[in-house]
This record gives sequence, structure tokens and C-alpha cells, in this order.
Amino acid sequence: MARITLDHLAHAYKANPRNAEDYALKEINHVWSQGGAYALLGPSGCGKTTLLNIISGLVRPTRGRVLFDELDVTDLSTESRNIAQVFQFPVVYDTMTVRENLAFPLKNRNVPRDRTARRVEEIASLLDLTRVLDRKASNLTADMKQKISLGRGLVRPDVAAILFDEPLTVIDPHLKWQLRSTLKEIHRALDITMIYVTHDQTEALTFADKVVVMHDGAVVQTGTPEELFERPAHTFVGHFIGSPGMNILPCRVEGSTAFVGNTMISLRRVYRTLSDGEHIELGIRPEFVRLQPKGAGLPVQVRRIDDIGRARIARVEMNGRSLAASVPDGISIEGREASLVLDPKHVHIYANGHLVAGEAN
Ligand code: ADP
Ligand code: MG
Repeated sequence: MARITLDHLAHAYKANPRNAEDYALKEINHVWSQGGAYALLGPSGCGKTTLLNIISGLVRPTRGRVLFDELDVTDLSTESRNIAQVFQFPVVYDTMTVRENLAFPLKNRNVPRDRTARRVEEIASLLDLTRVLDRKASNLTADMKQKISLGRGLVRPDVAAILFDEPLTVIDPHLKWQLRSTLKEIHRALDITMIYVTHDQTEALTFADKVVVMHDGAVVQTGTPEELFERPAHTFVGHFIGSPGMNILPCRVEGSTAFVGNTMISLRRVYRTLSDGEHIELGIRPEFVRLQPKGAGLPVQVRRIDDIGRARIARVEMNGRSLAASVPDGISIEGREASLVLDPKHVHIYANGHLVAGEAN
């Protein structure tokens, strides 16, 4: 087990990278503490798999170092890094039984036979594979095969970390919930660093104690699910996390205030100097934006109103920009013209995408 440090890490698949666009990973400095349950969350193509493969040694970074505790492992092979990795698609030996598949990672590692047998039984039981232990893997469904892959990742008790790359992709939706909570329980029981890659925020937020959000080859924020939701450090995080995500409204600075239409937002709490006329962005979650019948407030066009169980969410358009707002109980909106009222206490202020002040007042 180990703390994993990424030190000035960058990677380009191209031979002669020239500019930032040539890099799949820009400049990453990050520490994964020993024993943590991490999710690595970001949209498809942002560099998650590349980062995971660099940690496991399948990809050698163009620049920078990977350290396990104090040891520089950048030039070590995958085998000598002592890492388990579970991929999107099952990796099993079809000609072997499930039991043999699960025992395989312990082979040639001087694990006594009876310990191997006990460990295999233990992991099989955690993943509900006990009844198929003596079946050939080739006869099993994709779901089952992926469970075997998970088991193979979990079977070695001595690994530095276990890396999961979107491991539930082939799993039937109704089984996903169950497997995810199983993985969470296993993490509690084993106390091994786990990094779980996903593009699905629900998966990330339910699995992880800490979520690392990636965007465009860079880590944009690391935090608990609550921190990411309540204090997004970047407009990307605000918009990406939450459903619907945070509204992002461009506005202009005038003195110590900003205006969105006729709504005045105080900038007293901003912790860097903003200059008059500077363009900034306000971020506000849909629950703090109220849709009201046309009147005082920001004029908008209503596109549709969705009932999402506990709340009604309106999709509206303002100056060609799509926003989400909540529709308070007892309010009925006639026609397409309506008004928005923002709760200034819940406004976040961003300059060049980066948070410069939390709740404004
Ligand atoms: P993610 O896992 O977040 O979807 P990847 O790490 O797979 O992202 O990809 C990051 C970027 O690197 C993408 O632009 C992708 O097209 C590119 N990329 C990934 N693997 C390769 C490869 N083997 N050769 C060239 N480009 C690649
Ligand atoms: Mg990937």
C-alpha cells in the first residue's frame, strides 16, 4: 500500500508535441493518499484512462514522475509496481474455471496454497460468485465475466492500489447499484487505495470519499462530493456536477457590483481585484433561481417545465443562453414569457472560469 504522487506529469501520444493541444495530459501534480477511495471523474476524452495507465505503468509519461511513497516508479515495469487494474471490458481466461481465474494473480507470488484457496473463497463470496466457482469462464455472461475481472483485481491483498477504469460499463443497469456498493464495502474492509474512473457523476459521488475532476487533460478540482457541489472551483465543475448543473451567467463589473440585467450582485467578498468593465461569470444552482410570472426580475422565454419528483424545473432561455430554474409550488406560468429571480446569497463568482468568490453576500 502506498501514497501515490504525480509530479509535473504530462503526456502526449504524438512524437513531437509542440503546443498544449498536442498533450492528452497537460501538467498534473496530485497526491493520492494511502487508503483513500477516489473517483476520477470527467467527460469522455479528458484523459482519465491515460492517467490510470501512467500510474499502472502501461503508458510511460512524456514528462514528470510517478512516486509510490518515496520511491520513483516512473521507469519500473507494470509487474514490479504491484498495482491491480480492472478494465472496462472483462479480462478472463476462458479455458480456466472461475476459481482458477481468481487464483491466477496469486500464482508465482509465494502465497501458500491454503491461503490462496481461502482468499479466493473470500473474494468469491463478496462478489456473489461462490456458486459458479467451478464453472468454466467461457460459459458465463458478460456480467459474470466482469465480476471475475473485479475479483482478479481484488484478490491480491498486498497491492499498492487498485485502479478501476469504468468497470461497470458492461454490467446490467439493475446490478450496477449493487456492485458499486459492494466495491464500497470492499474498500472499507481492505483499506487499499482505490481509484475509480468514471464519466458518470452518480457513480463517482456514491463510490468516493474524494472526487478528482478532470477536464481537458488537467485536474480542475479535488474535493468531497459536498465540496464539489457547494463550492465548484471552476465553471466546468459547477456545470458538470449536479443535474441539471449550475447556471453560468456572463456579466460585467461596475464598481463593487455586477449586473445581470437589472439584478445587482455585490462583489464585496471577491478576493481579487476586478476592474471596471471586466467580464466575469456568475454561477448559481437551479434551486436558487426562481421562475415567476412575468414581472420584476430577469425576462426569459420558457421552453419547458419538467416535473422531476420533488421539484419542478423550468428550462428557460435568456439572451440565447439556456438556463434551469426552479418553479415554486403554487406558481403557474402562463405562456412563454416569465421572469427569473436570483438569490444573491447563493451566487458564485468566476473570472476566466476560476472561482474568485463563494457565496457573494
Ligand atoms: P478518457 O479515458 O477520459 O476518455 P483517454 O485518456 O482515453 O480519455 O484519452 C485522452 C485523449 O488522448 C483523447 O483525445 C484520446 O483521443 C487520446 N488518446 C488516447 N489513447 C490514445 C492513443 N493510444 N493514441 C493516440 N491518442 C490517444
Ligand atoms: Mg477511458
